[in-house]
Order: sequence, then structure tokens, then C-alpha cells
Amino acid sequence: MAADIPYRRDITFEYGRLEQIAPGLRRIVARNPGPFTFRGTGTYVVGDGKVAVIDPGPDLPDHIDAVLASLSGETVTHILVTHTHRDHSPAAAAVKAATGAPTYGFGPHMGGRRGEAGAEEGGDWDFAPDITVHDGDWIEGDGWRFEAVHTPGHTSNHLCFALPDPGILFSGDHVMGWSTSVIAPPDGNMADYMASLDKLLPRRDALYWPTHGPAITEPQRHVRAFIAHRREREAGVLDCLRAGIGRVDAMVARLYVGLDPSLRRAAGRSVLAHLVDLIERDIVASDGAATVEAQYRLRHVRPSA
Ligand SMILES: [Zn+2]
Repeated sequence: MAADIPYRRDITFEYGRLEQIAPGLRRIVARNPGPFTFRGTGTYVVGDGKVAVIDPGPDLPDHIDAVLASLSGETVTHILVTHTHRDHSPAAAAVKAATGAPTYGFGPHMGGRRGEAGAEEGGDWDFAPDITVHDGDWIEGDGWRFEAVHTPGHTSNHLCFALPDPGILFSGDHVMGWSTSVIAPPDGNMADYMASLDKLLPRRDALYWPTHGPAITEPQRHVRAFIAHRREREAGVLDCLRAGIGRVDAMVARLYVGLDPSLRRAAGRSVLAHLVDLIERDIVASDGAATVEAQYRLRHVRPSA
């Protein structure tokens, strides 16, 4: 049975407008819609007067101008970055230059090399946080206090930011309402992603605001559905291997029926992420390096239940 993911895609906004979406919380959406960004990057502003900006967004002059103009009568005291994909962190440099606010993040982009085809969103190799944030660190401002939650998987440096008082989690690209997350090796890691989903389950956050798309109002149900979905996908990959299907493109053809062709490459990276995880668990072997081109097989033939 297919995991029932309670997708949420209803979102109302106007591009380039900083809009109030909850008490003490505003959002401005960048005009960078696409198959991996949904309607665009949502840049969040927390507080009033002295504010934190979360995920300044892509290097789009219209977006940067709109963010700065909207906040011209206020003071930006913190720039928080969930992770270093090009739709999240590049605008941090311009916002910092204009406001003097320091940037906060887990660290620079990691995994792979500059210019290498990796995650579909592309790495921002230029971002380095002024202040390195670790799991469990607290970031305090005027009237708000964030807890940093390290959630590697989508990228190794992914952070979520929690506001425990209203029970909000800014979930970045780790948990989104409109789509599953892209887990693309080498920086994306399926085992880390699954552990980072498990990490959210005992938390008490009542509402998630992902960087793309609307809020998630039943986060526990959502996270559990994503865990179930990946377990199903892993079972599908193992079924392929048992059926003698050992190449990523053939697995994608079998597992992703009716897939939008623009998502085929991302689906291949997701299957690869499962295969890398299965290799690390000694369940699968590859001929040569574990790439999308390699041939895969089961390491041990297990008796069927
Ligand atoms: Zn991303």
C-alpha cells in the first residue's frame, strides 16, 4: 500500500510583497518557481522592529530589493540560513551588506565539488556563516529565541529553527508540505535524512513553516508519512534487485510510474541515495563506484519470509 502523504499545496501570496502570515511572522516569496522550489523561496521575517530573516533566498535582484525595501524602517539583527542551496543562501550576502547583520548557519556547503552536478537546486559555494551554529544552540533576538536543530539529509549542513514558545519549526527543505525532499548524493544522505525525520518525532513543534509552500499543520502525521514513504521506496528498490533490475534508470522506470520527465534525474538521485544507504548496510553491492551509471545487486540472497 502506498504511503498516504498529506500534501499541502494551497498557498496565497503576492510575489515581492512582505506579508503577515501569523503574529510576529511575515513572509516574502521570491519569483523563482520551479520543479524543486514550488512557487518560489519563502523568506521569513520573525519579530517586529528588530527582526531575524530566515533564508534570504536566491541571488535575484528583484527579490533582494523587495526584502530590503520592505524592512527599510526596521533593523535586521540576524540572518539565518537553513542550508546552502542556491535558492536559500545567496541573497544573504546582499542583505548582510545592506544591514550589517551577521549570518548564522551550520557551515559552508559540503559534499561534492564546486560546479559538479549534484543536487538539483545547486550548491552555494560562496556562503560561509559569520556565526557557526551547532545542534541545540540558542539564537536570541528582540522578543524571540530560536533553537537550532541540525537535520542533515537533504544537505549535510541543514538546520531547522524552532521557536518553542508558539511551537513553530522553520523546517527549511527537510520537511515540506508540497513535496518530498530531494536526497541527492554526495551531499544528500538517506540514512542521515531518515535519522533527521526520526529526530523530529518526539519534539513538540505544533506547526512547520517550510521554505517552500504553505505551513504544515499536522507535522507529526506528515513526518510519519515521509518515513513510511521512504521505507516503501527502499522496499521497491530491493524488489527491483530481486527481479534482476540492477540499474538506476531501469529502477526509476519501474518505481516512478507516470513521472514528470523533468523530475527523472532527481528520481535517479533518490534511488541512488537508497542504494548508497543499502551498500553501507551491507545489503547491496555495486560494480565499481556507486554512481547512477553503476550496476547494483543484492549482496546476500535472503530466504523469503
Ligand atoms: Zn535545498
